[in-house]
Amino acid sequence: MNARVGLFGGTFDPIHWGHVRAAWAACNGANLTNVILIPSARPPHKNFDTGTDGAHRLAMCRLAARDNERLDVSDVEIERGGESYTLLTLQHFLGAMPGARIVFLLGADAYEDIATWYRVAEALPLVDWVVLRRPGMPTPDLARPLREHAALFEPADGALRLRAGATSIRYLEIPETPVSSTQVRRAIREGLTIDELVPPAVADYIARHGLYR
Ligand code: ATP
Repeated sequence: MNARVGLFGGTFDPIHWGHVRAAWAACNGANLTNVILIPSARPPHKNFDTGTDGAHRLAMCRLAARDNERLDVSDVEIERGGESYTLLTLQHFLGAMPGARIVFLLGADAYEDIATWYRVAEALPLVDWVVLRRPGMPTPDLARPLREHAALFEPADGALRLRAGATSIRYLEIPETPVSSTQVRRAIREGLTIDELVPPAVADYIARHGLYR
């Protein structure tokens, strides 16, 4: 059977249990061989002027993935530098993994902004898309954020099928882990423990490097 590889992009500033558990749940729920975490160099959709250095974010992703056989980390966006456009990342993995089925994972909050992504109409038909439940967000209407691109897809069994390329966009109702990176950064600034929010090796790394103080 061909591999089904999940790509999970994000700022990961820092990576937290919400990311890790969402990746695990996607492995099972979307039948993936593995998930590759891809920290961005510069997220195009966030004000990142005070964001943490890519080398730190990458190191924390590696620590979070270390004991998980089905989690991997790619430095492709950090090495490429500049704005991290998903289209370029998809093209990279399609070239690097011929024969694999590629599934891009994103939270329901990120999906709300998908119409603003760089050359999104070209990106959508390239791979399958799985939108993950994000705590506090309602079940998304998958067609709504893409209404300007309605010609690209048609409804199919609660999902959307891309007309070009035999790919789809679907929603996956994963168990909720209500954590965000914003919450982790705030907890550190306020001198609160982050032990429940991030994997232990990530908490150690943050303390050792004095991040987010
Ligand atoms: P911030 O609080 O800084 O905005 P974040 O916690 O949303 O950060 P990102 O690195 O921006 O983390 O998220 C990367 C991807 O992970 C996005 O697609 C986002 O929707 C998803 N994600 C983040 N936290 C969760 C969570 N708790 N459950 C499910 N998906 C999540």
